[in-house]
Amino acid sequence: NEVEEFYIDELIKENLVIFESSYKSSNIQLVLDLKSIKVLGFKFELMQVVINIINNAKDALISKMSLRDTNKFIIIKSSVVDDNLVLIVTDNAGGIPSEISEKIYEPYFTTKHQSQGTGLGLYMSNEIIKKHFNGSLSNKTVEYEYEGNKYKGEEFKIQIPLLCD
Ligand code: ADP
Ligand code: MG
Repeated sequence: NEVEEFYIDELIKENLVIFESSYKSSNIQLVLDLKSIKVLGFKFELMQVVINIINNAKDALISKMSLRDTNKFIIIKSSVVDDNLVLIVTDNAGGIPSEISEKIYEPYFTTKHQSQGTGLGLYMSNEIIKKHFNGSLSNKTVEYEYEGNKYKGEEFKIQIPLLCD
């Protein structure tokens, strides 16, 4: 498990095909807006972080009964800002209530049933991102427009210094 160079767009596209059918059957659209960015990092662990964040978004979307099935989506967007990789995952499930927002990175904090969640996902994700040369993982509730409609959801942002040439 060593640090290596890879393209973030390729990594995500290769791995998400495994999940595609489960998202389709839940009527969740995965929207990829990925630039080709070369990253130095722990490939496998970084992918675990992305998978945990989108699975959390998926769980939130599924539990949101008021959303019409055709309206559920997760947007995954990458960009470069000041020599950092910025990877943003946004859902339209309404966002994390402010009462629990501070607790989500604590180990074993979960709002899910025992069989559905361990509460370790974001705790471990945060640890993994920190060891990426002091990268950061943050979240906030956002209201935004997408294809002419207004939505509210949670936005998770991964920031990692780009150390490739
Ligand atoms: P788990 O998925 O096992 O519950 P996590 O650490 O991955 O543990 O997430 C902790 C909690 O954060 C979840 O139980 C959920 O309440 C909340 N959460 C995380 N992502 C979202 C999201 N996109 N929308 C709403 N709630 C979320
Ligand atoms: Mg989780």
